[in-house]
Amino acid sequence: MEKITILEGRQSQVYEKNNTPAEFDITCETTSLSGSVSQRACVFCGSRVVLYPVADALHIVHGPIGCAAYTWDIRGAVSSGPELHRLSFSTDLKEMDVIYGGEKKLHKSLTELIEQYQPKAAFIYSTCIIGIIGDDIDAVCKKVSQEQGIPVLPVHSEGFKGTKKDGYKAACDALMKLVGTGPTEGIGKYSINILGEFNLAGEAWIIKSYYEQMGIQVVSTMTGDGRVDDIRRSHGASLNIVQCSGSHGQAGKNDGREVRHPVSAGVLLRHRRHEQGALRCRTAFQ
Ligand code: SF4
Repeated sequence: MEKITILEGRQSQVYEKNNTPAEFDITCETTSLSGSVSQRACVFCGSRVVLYPVADALHIVHGPIGCAAYTWDIRGAVSSGPELHRLSFSTDLKEMDVIYGGEKKLHKSLTELIEQYQPKAAFIYSTCIIGIIGDDIDAVCKKVSQEQGIPVLPVHSEGFKGTKKDGYKAACDALMKLVGTGPTEGIGKYSINILGEFNLAGEAWIIKSYYEQMGIQVVSTMTGDGRVDDIRRSHGASLNIVQCSGSHGQAGKNDGREVRHPVSAGVLLRHRRHEQGALRCRTAFQ
């Protein structure tokens, strides 16, 4: 089989075992080449990764059906209750929508789906084509929010405008519009939010139980097994524990309360590393 060569612009970003010199200095934190699935995902995909585990929200992809299919149930995040997030709704834009605009279609889709599923909030994702045709999704979201009485949040995640990481920021910007809009009654002094934990295999439940055994109240997890009402009142927590700083680091700093968790999701449950995170949490409360 013919070997596929690494694209020139990616050569400093790919390490080939048994083929790359040991002193290889890998490049990180740079903009990826254009193109999507084979290299890195697009801005829209990044925003879907972060927001999609919010299980009682409606998620509508405003764009062609391919964008929604590409990210349908993208990481299989599990929920202890509602599973609305696992459905991948799309406005399914076609040629005529591209010519005449998709705002009416978005309004109709939103109205129908909110009436059918009664979500706690709705996230509307912009895809590449929305950036090109210029649909005013902010205006549509504002109108539907007033009509339906729930938060309807635009996610400015046009695929071409950056990297997957820019999608994380677009998602956090949308999340931050929810934070601070709910009541904080019942939240104690020793309370945290867990940010950047996506509950892909139920690990959020285990981590949450550890903190609860330490006497620490977990107000919200963002976004694994996430609930809109928990996010709305999360500003009442005393501390943000940021597990995945790539996706939620900025959100953790937004209100000035952050402890950067010293581990990534893959190693969190190793005893010593998790112990370090818990100790840093304890220190922050002292
Ligand atoms: S938003 Fe753009 S890059 Fe991303 S999946 Fe859709 S068409 Fe592809």
